[in-house]
Amino acid sequence: MTDHKNPGIEDVIKEAQSYIHDKDSLALISRAANYASECHAGQFRRSGEPYVTHVINVAYILATLRVGPATICAGFLHDVLEDCGVSREELAADFTDEIAGLVEAVTKIGTLEYKGKDDPEYQAANHRKIFIAMARDVRVILIKLVDRLHNMRTLQYQSENAQKRIASETLDVYAPIAHRLGISAIKNELEDLSFYYLNREEYYRIAILVEAKKTERDAAVNSMISEISDMLRENEIPFRIFGRSKHLYSIYKKMVNKGKRFEEILDLLAIRIITNTDLSCYEILGYIHAKYKPIPGRLKDYIAVPKTNMYQSLHTTIIGHDGKIFEVQIRTEDMDAIAERGVAAHWRYKEGSKYDARAEQKEIEDKLAWFKNFAVYSEDEAGNTSASEYMATLQRDVFEANVYVMTPMGRVIDLPNGATPIDFAYRIHTDVGHTAVGAIVNDAMVPLNTQLHTGDVVQIKTMKNTGPSEDWLKFVKTNQARNKIRNYLMKKEAEAHETRVSEGEKILAEEMRKRGFDPKDYMDKKKIENILKDFRVSNYTDLMYGIAVKSISPMSVTSHLTNQKSRMSEDEALGHLLNREVQKRTSKSGLVIPGIESMKMSLSHCCMPVYGDPIKGYITKGAGVKVHRADCVNISRVKSRLIDVQWDDGDPDRLYDSDLIVMAHDRSFLLTDIVTVVSQCRVTMESVSASVNHDTLTSTIKLTVRVHDVNHLQNVLANIRKIESVFTAERASH
Ligand code: MN
Repeated sequence: MTDHKNPGIEDVIKEAQSYIHDKDSLALISRAANYASECHAGQFRRSGEPYVTHVINVAYILATLRVGPATICAGFLHDVLEDCGVSREELAADFTDEIAGLVEAVTKIGTLEYKGKDDPEYQAANHRKIFIAMARDVRVILIKLVDRLHNMRTLQYQSENAQKRIASETLDVYAPIAHRLGISAIKNELEDLSFYYLNREEYYRIAILVEAKKTERDAAVNSMISEISDMLRENEIPFRIFGRSKHLYSIYKKMVNKGKRFEEILDLLAIRIITNTDLSCYEILGYIHAKYKPIPGRLKDYIAVPKTNMYQSLHTTIIGHDGKIFEVQIRTEDMDAIAERGVAAHWRYKEGSKYDARAEQKEIEDKLAWFKNFAVYSEDEAGNTSASEYMATLQRDVFEANVYVMTPMGRVIDLPNGATPIDFAYRIHTDVGHTAVGAIVNDAMVPLNTQLHTGDVVQIKTMKNTGPSEDWLKFVKTNQARNKIRNYLMKKEAEAHETRVSEGEKILAEEMRKRGFDPKDYMDKKKIENILKDFRVSNYTDLMYGIAVKSISPMSVTSHLTNQKSRMSEDEALGHLLNREVQKRTSKSGLVIPGIESMKMSLSHCCMPVYGDPIKGYITKGAGVKVHRADCVNISRVKSRLIDVQWDDGDPDRLYDSDLIVMAHDRSFLLTDIVTVVSQCRVTMESVSASVNHDTLTSTIKLTVRVHDVNHLQNVLANIRKIESVFTAERASH
């Protein structure tokens, strides 16, 4: 690792003067520097150095990135709100609102950082803050990245625990952001520093391997450089050429990811050629391929198709005359600046133009395709997903994206591995996703679940008035698509529910009119609330829904509402409730004890026997005989007071309650499907309730049904088990 000398305030000013000439801007920068010195006077870092060295370093690195004056000032001032008790208002009054805003945003990210390190939800919340701040103003994250870079450079003064924690956060969160923004100079340094603190053994092992053959490699690279230089001079093409070394972490990652030994890594001998125009790049490539044998499949044209972080260059791998393998990168000066400094290079400070944060942000979104998705996503989801869900989406949809496909207009869209045309469609626009009916990939019509590959040109066929299918959830890869599809289906289901509710209202009103009542007199919510209990529902909409799906009899509701209840027997009311013809029960319980007559018997509520179940009686004290299923756990230990009981020949109209438990993967219309199947089996449903475990996406549905006998019950269970996504359906015992 390189040692960095601490710059002074004058070094920052000098650096700024090299590209900022406006006197007022330079004066503002000096003032910010002095203000920070005063504020932090008497404060020290763990290294023992005055605190102000940290903020000077941050401002200095920002100036080398050629950022605007406001950003440099914010670099100097980035810790005064937190550490010096200055308020945002004071800062805005002393400087500008813009600067105070930047400092405040950086501070907000910072304040959470060192707390709750072991709580994943807390970490995620913290990271989400960083991303949302970035989505609003990219300068904030630039300052934050540089702040982190300097803290990483001075990490040796922290405790070992803090080193590991900060290093892994840097590797997981900050380095990927730097990469995504194309700031490879910062990304590489952050990676190597993290690598050092997280895995010192491997760090040194690779450093030693690199060092060992360095002289040999340098010699090979130098002789190749002079050969190429001669050739290009002969052909009068302007160029700059130099060897470059890979950073240690990228070598380590290649070895781990591709399972390669150090010696097998091809691009250790690397050369970069910088020229003046795009055309010269291709010309140089032509000359090089004419002279040296290229390795097939290694030519990459990132000039024609830039990477999503704006990176542009030609890459090729060639075999030198002595059999050594070289990686060659060819690009223009502008491309090189973007390759090193990314966003920072593209939006380097332009003298005389006023910084317009909105316009800049929009330009970034236009250039960095992913940034727009990300900004939109961050706005959308900021309030309504959990932090860890938000982070998972970002991780998957933004950071792990590595399939690059194109729209017919040539716009590059990055997607995660295994992504399908549906993922692509939702990336283009929510409406394109919702109305997608077909996909054309490279001029051929393909199924919507086809896996896309880098380079595919994808076009989506849409049709108005269609909607996403539930099946899509089985194959989409991006969380973005999954969330949009789910939301759509949930909304649809809610709408269907609403339709059912108004259907129920209509049916009930009709029933009342038929019986000579004016619905206006009875159908107000107050009156209806009074009878909810009678139908075992908890609210108005459930009652109306029940009427619409025929689990509640409109006739019975009418009777209750119009106070005719008293004239009906319990059995009649029950009959209405079941929406069947009124049944006359036999006076007998349906059970007999061999040899004994007239004994009070009832079915136990714990195992709920139904006609045909093997049964046992238990003689209670004073409540007659309770009849259990023979295998009921509640009587399995009981030795005395048991008595044989039998079903009598029975009344074919008698019905038995049975509680069921159904487990299923949660999906839309699950309940509707269960209700439909139950009613198709000619079984009455008494009640139904569902709960969802959001971690496992498993739904548990409890229902009470009324059946004639055990065969009838087994038939319902068998049919419920056939419903898609249901994995178990069993009788419950309590
Ligand atoms: Mn700081």
